[in-house]
Amino acid sequence: MEKRYNSYVDFFKEHYGHRIQKIVVDAGFTCPNRDGSIAIGGCTYCNNDAFHPSYSISSKSIEQQINEGIEFHLKRYRTTENYLAYFQPYSNTYASLEKLKALYSQALSHPKISGLVIGTRPDCIDSEKLDYLKEVSKEHIVIIEYGIESCYDKTLERINRGHTFEQAVNAVNETAQRGIHQGAHFIFGLPGESRADMLSMAGKINNLPLNSVKFHQLQIIKGTPMELEYALNPGDFFTFSLEEYIDFFVDFLELLRPTLYIERFAGEVPPRFVNNLPWGKIRNVELLRMLDKRLEERNTYQGRLFIP
Ligand code: SF4
Repeated sequence: MEKRYNSYVDFFKEHYGHRIQKIVVDAGFTCPNRDGSIAIGGCTYCNNDAFHPSYSISSKSIEQQINEGIEFHLKRYRTTENYLAYFQPYSNTYASLEKLKALYSQALSHPKISGLVIGTRPDCIDSEKLDYLKEVSKEHIVIIEYGIESCYDKTLERINRGHTFEQAVNAVNETAQRGIHQGAHFIFGLPGESRADMLSMAGKINNLPLNSVKFHQLQIIKGTPMELEYALNPGDFFTFSLEEYIDFFVDFLELLRPTLYIERFAGEVPPRFVNNLPWGKIRNVELLRMLDKRLEERNTYQGRLFIP
């Protein structure tokens, strides 16, 4: 079946000629939204433990995490020979430039690592760090992944993100000016947002000079402030049934710029972390199959309604 959207796997094949596997590295960063610089307690939905693979623990050296990560992935993808160190947990540019150089260099010195994916907040980057990453990108793959989450300041404030959408726009523009590849992460279903609000985000995202995008449906993680908020005010949350989400995402894809690569369109937090499983236990591969099927049934594709 012909793909009706730009998948991230194709991004790597088209830009680098082959499939690339990310190996998650926990380099022991924290985040200004947790350590008191901006706020204490973090974003109301956040529990980083829910996204940690077993091999990535900050008490292990970066080299050990990479070795164990490669071993883990070789069991699943025997043919993959190309890896990126994915600095994922917390805010991975939240340190001095000297410290960042030392940490990234450890990963880049591993013989199987071709580059870096760096997850961070839009307010944890500056021109000095971007200039350095631009230099690194001349020799290695470098991709910055910004957590933006919503295009609405009202929502960002409500979820205690500690930054505005304008700050995200500035960071993305500064990154694009240096020619560094970048992606961004957004969540659908944050409190106070209607289906129409979420669909309207497509136009705002199209205007950002991003290469790729990652979307998740909101999952309520146990022990987070959002779990309590959801229990108290469930009516403030637009929740999708699985079928509704697939249809919503098809509507969203139709509006999305056709040149954007889609890295992910729904999330899969391990069931032990979430407070309920409205879609049951469903794997990403099944979600992707459903999306393909719905696109086919509706005979539509990414960007069909895109207005440049
Ligand atoms: S910025 Fe990231 S790590 Fe920090 S509190 Fe928010 S979601 Fe958690």
